[in-house]
Amino acid sequence: MVASSEQGVPDAVAVVGLGNMGLPIARNLLAAGFPLTVYNRTPGKADSLVGSGAKLAASPRDAAARGRIVVTMLADDRAVEEVTLGEHGLLVGMKPGAIHVGMSTVEPATSGRLAAAHAAHGSHYVAAPVFGRPETAAQAKLYVIAAGSGAALDACLPVLEALSRGISRVGEDPARASLVKLAGNFLLAAMLEALGEVFAFVEKAGLDRLEVLQTLNGALFASAVYQVNGEKMCRGAFSPAGFQMALGLKDVRLVLRTADHLGVLMPLAGVAHDHFLSAVARGRGDLDWTAVSEVLREAAGIPRASNSERQGSAT
Ligand code: NAP
Repeated sequence: MVASSEQGVPDAVAVVGLGNMGLPIARNLLAAGFPLTVYNRTPGKADSLVGSGAKLAASPRDAAARGRIVVTMLADDRAVEEVTLGEHGLLVGMKPGAIHVGMSTVEPATSGRLAAAHAAHGSHYVAAPVFGRPETAAQAKLYVIAAGSGAALDACLPVLEALSRGISRVGEDPARASLVKLAGNFLLAAMLEALGEVFAFVEKAGLDRLEVLQTLNGALFASAVYQVNGEKMCRGAFSPAGFQMALGLKDVRLVLRTADHLGVLMPLAGVAHDHFLSAVARGRGDLDWTAVSEVLREAAGIPRASNSERQGSAT
């Protein structure tokens, strides 16, 4: 049985993981009127939410015991599995029928394991990874890719609607949502690789990168995603990161692992992987993942300083 709200009374919700994405998500759920409990591994990140009326849980288990719907927005697969299955994890606290909504970008196999663990426990797992940056999350305009059993997903819709501009349901198996999310992140990584190569190409020839971006985006793509990410590269606006290079590397690794399991060639993912890896190896793991353009500039022998001299730096 799926937990359902009393008529007109919003479900109690818990949010676990208050990083760049989890914090604005939690803020929006609180603003939408959900009774909210929050937990974050590093204390302090919940202070502003508690000041606005959220309750603070002592552990993931405690958070899960207080929410019928438990949202996790944690960094990676290991974090989600630890927080869910650990000694003081969600499963110990979750009541039968409660729903775990996993919003992190994880490997499809991880979503499958989480779904099986919840099924054995009598709770439900809905995978709901998102597209959009922290600014988008703050505006409640994320795009959600959701998969889970029909009734569990239906029960989560008020929560997902409170933080998004759109929801695509991609089936009952949570692994499918993770796969679609990885497919989207592969396209974004391939776009960053292509933009980085083009910027080194035109900059070395003495052209203004921002002008070239505007020209080509207007002529060919008319894409806000090209524009926003291209401008970050041109302006060197890599810090603070909206999406960290280290997380971008994690996602490209997940794409390659999944492609390997499926027996699918994704050579572009391999190229992007090597350049993200190089950036992380040079100590840039905490910069925005658009800083992959710096790897390509350096490989082309373009000196660092010319970035700010030619384009004007916003960092
Ligand atoms: P983030 O700012 O690095 O936050 C990560 C969160 O995970 C923090 O709350 C962190 O706690 C927690 N965490 C990490 N390891 C943990 C562990 N072992 N146990 C408990 N908690 C742990 O990351 P983010 O940018 O919010 O991203 C979160 C997820 O959303 C990732 O899967 C990412 O790929 C995905 N995503 C991000 C974006 C984006 O633009 N940022 C967009 C779409 C999807 P502490 O505070 O204690 O470190």
